[in-house]
Amino acid sequence: MIKIGDITSFISCPRLAYFRMHHEKGVANEYHAVREIFLSLRKGYDYEWAYERFSTLYPDSKETFTLAASKLRYSEELERIRPRAWEVYFESERLRLRGVVDEITENGRFLVVMLKKISDKFTFKERMRMTAISAISGIKEGYVYYAYDGVLAEFKETRKDRYNLLRILEKLRKIEKGFLPERREGKRCEICEYSDECNTKPETFASRFF
Ligand code: SF4
Repeated sequence: MIKIGDITSFISCPRLAYFRMHHEKGVANEYHAVREIFLSLRKGYDYEWAYERFSTLYPDSKETFTLAASKLRYSEELERIRPRAWEVYFESERLRLRGVVDEITENGRFLVVMLKKISDKFTFKERMRMTAISAISGIKEGYVYYAYDGVLAEFKETRKDRYNLLRILEKLRKIEKGFLPERREGKRCEICEYSDECNTKPETFASRFF
């Protein structure tokens, strides 16, 4: 079954999705730390508890946690949204897609945490992440909380979003079965945890037409 994270990996780089789906390394990043802090604060716990949760999954990543904690802003705007449940698991048998939603709110929306707002509108990657949540949860509207900006934004799925999601899922199913996409050299390669494997894995003729 495909995870929501596979969709965002695919949009960053299709090859990255291949490596994460078949050779997950479990490397901690700032997003993982921010999510633990956000969830802990939302539930009424503190940073210490957030670190307890984070370090259980990523024992050697204190620097990442400290950095994320120094950048995170907890906005008062969040107080107007009352939570109903956290870390809710959904899956769709039909789409063969699964994921965990950070929060379901009392007004029947979902809420997810992200790091930084990069433009006025939602980016394609953000839209696809939230559309995937809509698809598995049946909830069409939600909020994004940009933790480093302290900004809350509202999202509503469109038909075009759903269509784009289905196209990505088709490609991810091929990758799930073992198809290795073409290497796309880009800025992301400089920080990619799979750069060694990626450099040594040969491309195939078929990967050019993916
Ligand atoms: S090294 Fe570059 S092309 Fe290879 S998986 Fe990473 S981001 Fe993608």
